[in-house]
Amino acid sequence: MAISSNNPALSSWIPAPEGTDFPIQNLPFGVFSDAQNPRPRPASIIGNTVIDLCALEELGYFTNLLPAAAPVFSGSTLNPFLQLGKPLWRAVRQRLSDLFNADNDALKNNTAHCAKILFPLENCSLHLPVHIGDYTDFYSSREHATNVGIMFRGADNALMPNWLHLPVGYHGRSSSIVVSGTPIRRPKGQMQLQDGQPPVFGPSRLLDFELEMAFVTGQGKPLGTPINIEEADDFIFGLMLFNDWSARDIQKWEYQPLGPFLGKNFGSSVSPWIVTLDALEPFRTAAPVQEPAVLPYLQYSGNKALNINLSVFIQPEGGAATQICSSNTKYLYWTMEQQLAHHTVNGCNINAGDMLASGTISGPTPNSFGSMLELTWRGTKPLTLSDGAERKFIADGDTVIMKGYAQYPGNGLRIGFGEVSGKVLPAL
Ligand code: MN
Repeated sequence: MAISSNNPALSSWIPAPEGTDFPIQNLPFGVFSDAQNPRPRPASIIGNTVIDLCALEELGYFTNLLPAAAPVFSGSTLNPFLQLGKPLWRAVRQRLSDLFNADNDALKNNTAHCAKILFPLENCSLHLPVHIGDYTDFYSSREHATNVGIMFRGADNALMPNWLHLPVGYHGRSSSIVVSGTPIRRPKGQMQLQDGQPPVFGPSRLLDFELEMAFVTGQGKPLGTPINIEEADDFIFGLMLFNDWSARDIQKWEYQPLGPFLGKNFGSSVSPWIVTLDALEPFRTAAPVQEPAVLPYLQYSGNKALNINLSVFIQPEGGAATQICSSNTKYLYWTMEQQLAHHTVNGCNINAGDMLASGTISGPTPNSFGSMLELTWRGTKPLTLSDGAERKFIADGDTVIMKGYAQYPGNGLRIGFGEVSGKVLPAL
């Protein structure tokens, strides 16, 4: 079924610069505040203009669309909206598409309403758009798992015996997920500098990023009730860029036998806008063929990967940004739908506002590896930045920036994510 708000021929009466990540075909969801009104409230965006969804609702633009019992957009997160489910997510996005269509001047000509609804992005602050109840991190890139396996176990045992049979994941920590622009403090912890020696305590020396994509869920099913793979898309609201900061030395010493802990939970950064799965449907593409065949509850048909271009930059303190990675979500071996079906197959429930991240997204070529661990091959092949400085891992003062967009063929129209950035501060 074609989603009419995705029509590439649409244009808006709100100006959208050429090549913007946020044309009227995107209409992502976020939370913003502005200088006059510091109260965080839900928003969308076209070009560089933020659209106040709380004001739109108060002024009656969602009447007969959203439940009348209680306002949906009056709080500081999108969670009440996420609870409503896909038909209403889709209807609200369609209403926004209609209101801001170039052929519709009803709101355009109401200057009093426009003053309450539209805000220049440059005057706004963007906030974490959801209250994240639970966060799960997967390990869904075959190339990433293989690279890490080769480094730590050798080429013959690179993939663990379970890897081709299930999407490996672990429960992460939601409290330390922060919105783009929030600085990240270099963590301290235990690490073993040499095999067989007792550990030392201090600032991590091997601070890394992980290029990931996360999806945000709607309200799932009751505890004890799986979400099957055919219905998984109904529970996926949208996607965000996700930097899963990682302290490799802390991680290496602590991770056996229960998995990552303090090497991961000191901070993860997300982009501020949630791009809906609906807006990304035109960019579905085939995921890698799965061989051996997976168990029936993980089998699917159709194109379930997404063709989203991803890039990573390092910007040293006071310097210029250097692109160090170019990857794509289409390389992921396990799809979001498989992740969700696997996560709930035992009856584990998900809630509106949960976040499920892909794991590091590495592609087949060395410049497409999604972490410093792989890009510098454990520090043995340092990267050179545009100012001539070398990096094996992330230095204090570095800002790591990730960007992502999907692109319609032909006309250059982009459905973008903006960026997720974070600056590393020295350890305390
Ligand atoms: Mn990760």
